[in-house]
This record gives sequence, C-alpha cells and structure tokens, in this order.
Amino acid sequence: MPSYDPNNIFAKILRGELPCHKVYEDDKVLAFLDIMPRAPGHTLVLPKAPARNIFDIGTDDLAAVARATQKIAKTGMQVFGADGVTIQQFNEGAGGQVVFHLHVHVIPRKAGVPMKPAASEKEKPEVLSDNALKLSAALKAG
Ligand code: 5GP
Repeated sequence: MPSYDPNNIFAKILRGELPCHKVYEDDKVLAFLDIMPRAPGHTLVLPKAPARNIFDIGTDDLAAVARATQKIAKTGMQVFGADGVTIQQFNEGAGGQVVFHLHVHVIPRKAGVPMKPAASEKEKPEVLSDNALKLSAALKAG
C-alpha cells in the first residue's frame, strides 16, 4: 500500500490550509460536510491522525471515529428529518476511495429518496453553511 500523502485535500483541511463546513471536532476527530452531498447533511468524519485508510489507522483513532460517527448519525436523523442513515467508508482506489485520508460518510436518508451519484454536484455554499450550523448546534446541545 502506498504511504500517507500529507498533501491530500483532507490533510490540508485538517491543517486549516483549506476551508470546510465544520460540524464537530474533538481531540482525535474532525467532521465536516461533503461539498458534493449525496443527500442533505452528508457528513465526512475523519481522524486527525494521518491515516490513509482502514489499513493503517490506529485502533484508538478508529474507535474515536466510530464514536463520532454514531453521534453524528443519531443527530443527523433529527436535524434532517431522516428515516435512516447510510454509513460508507472506502479503502484504496479499487474499494472506491478517492481522497486518501481515512473518512467515514454519514448520509441521512429519507424513505424512497435515492442518493445522488457520488461527487456529482457541488452544493451551494449558503446551503452547506446553513446545514453545518444546524447540525453543529444540535451536536453541541445533545
Ligand atoms: P471517497 O474518497 O470516500 O470516495 O470520496 C471523497 C469524498 O470527498 C466525496 O464524497 C467528495 O464529494 C468529497 N470531497 C472531495 N473534495 C472535497 C473537498 O474539498 N471538501 C469537502 N468537504 N469534500 C470533498
């Protein structure tokens, strides 16, 4: 497996070199909205540690990502009036991974509404800001 590339786009977001619509942060995890959401509230949950994917992440960091993923899934259900949540995580190109810093997709779903195709359409910044504000406020309150 190739080694971790510190110049991947999520590493730049983690270092504050590129912006994001942040929804959650703790000492081990950062979560922000996907700029091409497959459904409203589509969130990416990342370890702060430099892990390429499931093959090189430490178990403590993986556990922290899992904890945050559950929290965001539960809160996303309420905030976006969802009926369910799809969780996805891809490893290496053959596994569907495009950005090589481990991330978990948390996608609130409404019954009967298909997900948009992956990375198909950039959401308007004002919609992302509004959704990030709602989700982060509910996470802080909960
Ligand atoms: P994956 O590696 O899991 O296949 O997909 C990477 C995900 O990152 C895609 O859903 C894509 O829409 C999202 N993405 C790509 N570039 C950016 C970016 O600059 N900012 C954010 N927030 N999401 C991104």
